[in-house]
Amino acid sequence: MRRGVDCVLCGRPNVGKSTLLNLLAGFDRAIVTPVAGTTRDVVEQAVMLGDVRLNLFDTAGVRDVGEDGDAIEAEGIRRSWKKLEEAGLVLAVFDAADGLGPDDLAVARRCEGRPAIAVLNKQDLVGDQTPLHEMEKALRPYFKTVLALSAKDPASLPRLSEAVARLLGTARVDTGAAALCSARQLAAATAARDALAQAIQSQHDGLGPDAAGVCIADALASLADLTGEDATEATLDEVFSTFCVGK
Ligand code: GDP
Repeated sequence: MRRGVDCVLCGRPNVGKSTLLNLLAGFDRAIVTPVAGTTRDVVEQAVMLGDVRLNLFDTAGVRDVGEDGDAIEAEGIRRSWKKLEEAGLVLAVFDAADGLGPDDLAVARRCEGRPAIAVLNKQDLVGDQTPLHEMEKALRPYFKTVLALSAKDPASLPRLSEAVARLLGTARVDTGAAALCSARQLAAATAARDALAQAIQSQHDGLGPDAAGVCIADALASLADLTGEDATEATLDEVFSTFCVGK
């Protein structure tokens, strides 16, 4: 939650990736033009979408440039595919007014099994018509979520935010609550939980209250380790191994 989720915007040229990036960023970060192939490289921008920090990468529009295609564009496309495979979230953008072509289906296939949302953009141009439903149906097999919206309309943001939170599982995370922030804290909390489970099991096994008492003492010791109430030399060494004491 601290570092954010690497989020890739992908889709063929002119579907509205840069417009969506600007909507998310809240200002004109990417160059938006009606000429296909304007965004040639990956643009980076960190934005907050609801409670989630997204590290956005607007990729070069992916399309089949053929063997004799522009070498720079081809390299941009290769990088886009790579980014897509590494991303924690993919927003694959499609042009609802244009229908789905072979380049769109190539994007969809790459998204299969990935944490990806299909954005059917330019909804304002088609309304809620049959072609939209058919596109949704065609994209469903490849995506966990399909969402029709208009990247030009700020009212699209809350719906997108909700879809992202649902997909990433952050919808019910209380960002103001205490959190386990390091491997050491997680290990101590897990040890405390396991010790309590053992305490309960000992009673199912008919071992008497003393056995449960030993396990509960172990759980308390792990919690004291977690909060620093009972920091051992080993704990201090571990904590300070990642500190610059001079600072
Ligand atoms: P990219 O190549 O995928 O980054 O596409 P752009 O963001 O540059 O957009 C291409 C064109 O589509 C521009 O003229 C945008 O203004 C237009 N566009 C993008 N989103 C929408 C939308 O939701 N509705 C409408 N009507 N036009 C849009």
